[in-house]
Amino acid sequence: MMPLTNQDKEKILSFLESRLEPKVYDTWCRSLELEPAGDNAYRVPTANPFYRDWLEKLLRKPLEDAFSSLFGRTPDLVFQVNASPLAVLAPAAPPSVPTPAAIVEPAPATPDFVYNPNYTFENFIEGPSNRMAFAAAVAVSENPATLYNPLFIHGGVGLGKTHLLQAICHSILTRNSSAKVHYLSCEDFVNGYIYAIQKKTLEAFRTRYRNADVLVVDDIHFLADKEGSQEEFFHTFNALHMAGRQMILSSDQPAGDIRSLTQQLLSRFRSGFEARIMSPAYETRLAILRGKAAARQVEVSQEVLGYIASIVESNIRELEGALTKVLGYAALSKRPVDLVLAQEVLKEVPPPSPASMSITEIQQVVARYFHKKVSDLHSRRWTKSTSQARQICIYLCRKFTGTSLEELGSHFGGKDHSTMLYSIRKVEKLLTKNASVRGDVERLTREISSK
Ligand code: ADP
Ligand code: MG
Repeated sequence: MMPLTNQDKEKILSFLESRLEPKVYDTWCRSLELEPAGDNAYRVPTANPFYRDWLEKLLRKPLEDAFSSLFGRTPDLVFQVNASPLAVLAPAAPPSVPTPAAIVEPAPATPDFVYNPNYTFENFIEGPSNRMAFAAAVAVSENPATLYNPLFIHGGVGLGKTHLLQAICHSILTRNSSAKVHYLSCEDFVNGYIYAIQKKTLEAFRTRYRNADVLVVDDIHFLADKEGSQEEFFHTFNALHMAGRQMILSSDQPAGDIRSLTQQLLSRFRSGFEARIMSPAYETRLAILRGKAAARQVEVSQEVLGYIASIVESNIRELEGALTKVLGYAALSKRPVDLVLAQEVLKEVPPPSPASMSITEIQQVVARYFHKKVSDLHSRRWTKSTSQARQICIYLCRKFTGTSLEELGSHFGGKDHSTMLYSIRKVEKLLTKNASVRGDVERLTREISSK
């Protein structure tokens, strides 16, 4: 295969330019090189493993499309770390650019896959809800493949799993820029596997992952109900484990709850260290908001941050979203960021998880779970077990339906809004220190959200 002429290269570049966001194109494509590497094969040299994974994710598909629409053939593209001494001096973190979700046409990437330069340990706020996971992540990054292997981090959506996983990658690569750190979403693993079967390139697929020093697979619960992929991942896991490599996995459920997970994989997942991330309590939410405001170099009063932290409860992504919304609205309307504005803006924040169950149905689930009558949840009865069941029920109704505190009170025997708030705070506090309450809430949450 002849090297590409300058004209070919220009055609390819303008094709990419038409497909990518301008900022992505400017940052990643202007200096793109394509070196001939055999018959219909090209090498894309990159500065370090992180760049390699990132560029491959970002450009493989658009590049393949460029070749096939311009020259009528799909080349073999090999994204490779450049061994030149200059490459070693390249910065460890790519600049902040829009993620490959910005690719205009087919988006093979889930937004989660992308390496985000802000997802570092420094930017991660520690609190009781994530302390174990955070400590384990730091330990793994300092001493890969010694202590916690695999490290299995699980917790609900938007609670910082991807952030921690990428922080580990970042930290390992900062210590050792030649470490082969392979980060991918489980969805990419599954899709890659299916593609490799179709194209009969299983060997290449396997080598790719099995050569990693550190394999990081995000959202491993995606393996649910996928027998073939589970089998393949099992072999990958074993190969890496035997070779003494580190594996880090995240899941939105405990390993034991992933549907139809084979016994052999389950026991592998449990053979290392399982760390759970829970919903952060009010204080941690406030600290996270403070961190996010500081990162954007904006001053936001304690009062406003406190207000946001008090109404967005279960999901940090939404917490950040609420802050963004308030700041954006203030900027647009040229008004100061104060409580009145925040209240005005966030009144419209949709409930964190759209209700699939009504308050009445949630009350029935909770009553059944605690062996109570639904009427006990309305009454003012004061035995400890009844009042705790009631508080948990109030907490869950608020979480799942987003009903206002006033209205919620009317579903619990006409109690007022401060009683609702008190119950919710009480449960939040219990969640951070009482494992049995935590277990109850998690089981109930699962039951409610599975409906
Ligand atoms: P998950 O992968 O669990 O769904 P992410 O890692 O994508 O969640 O986190 C969602 C957002 O919340 C990200 O912007 C992340 O930076 C932020 N975030 C989560 N936990 C923390 C934390 N403890 N400190 C700071 N930011 C956090
Ligand atoms: Mg994630």
